[in-house]
Amino acid sequence: MTEAKKPAATVNAGAGIRPLVAGNWKMNGLQAALGEAIAVRDAILASPPKADVMLCPPATLTMVLAEIAKGGLLQLGGQDCHSNASGAHTGDVSAEMLRDAGATAVIVGHSERRTDHGECDRDIRAKASAAHRAGLVAIVCVGETAGERAAGLTLQVVARQLAGAVPDEATAASTVVAYEPVWAIGTGLTPTLADVAEVHGAIRKALAARFGGEGERMRILYGGSVKPQNARELMAVPNVDGALVGGASLKASDFLGIIAAYGG
Ligand code: PEP
Repeated sequence: MTEAKKPAATVNAGAGIRPLVAGNWKMNGLQAALGEAIAVRDAILASPPKADVMLCPPATLTMVLAEIAKGGLLQLGGQDCHSNASGAHTGDVSAEMLRDAGATAVIVGHSERRTDHGECDRDIRAKASAAHRAGLVAIVCVGETAGERAAGLTLQVVARQLAGAVPDEATAASTVVAYEPVWAIGTGLTPTLADVAEVHGAIRKALAARFGGEGERMRILYGGSVKPQNARELMAVPNVDGALVGGASLKASDFLGIIAAYGG
């Protein structure tokens, strides 16, 4: 007797929300890595997924990647921005500069920025508003530490971060929320699907309560050790509208394996 084949999980494309799969290269990527982006660009053009696809390279590669992406489906994002448009801020990049370089979005409040640079929710809200000012989509990251989860504080922490870091002018078109449990980033660990559903459900509720219909349509990404092997089941969780991907976005084959959850 042959075992019945388990049906593949279906990914969410509900409520008219177009999912987003965004790759965060972090401080990785010399020009030699551009071939990976070209491979992603070519693959999604040949077989368009039912999701937006974005790469967030280091700032040094933004302009050249914008050239590479021109006319195709691949979108570009920054990894951080300053809240000011210009000025005496050595080493920083403004949202306007990212827009000028060809980006359409920027990640703000990644836990590595919170940890390495001491960013708080107020800083992140100012950066998200700067993104909006420049015409960029703000991808606002929230998520609890291992200690906070162990203490049962996950929903409280995420609610506080959302209230503090998402600006009042946020709309479904201008803002994406990324739920990234800090302890799942780069560790190979992921929450249970039930835990992901619980947090994404709470985020949806909070966004809808604050922003009405805009909050109901705002994309909520899951991030933290998303791989080709777990993407489909994670993306099928209610209120998961795509993924923010770190390590697995560096290799086109892995990233495309995740995008394949959306049929690409
Ligand atoms: C991230 O840093 O945003 C991330 C999700 O990383 P990884 O996929 O490597 O866990």
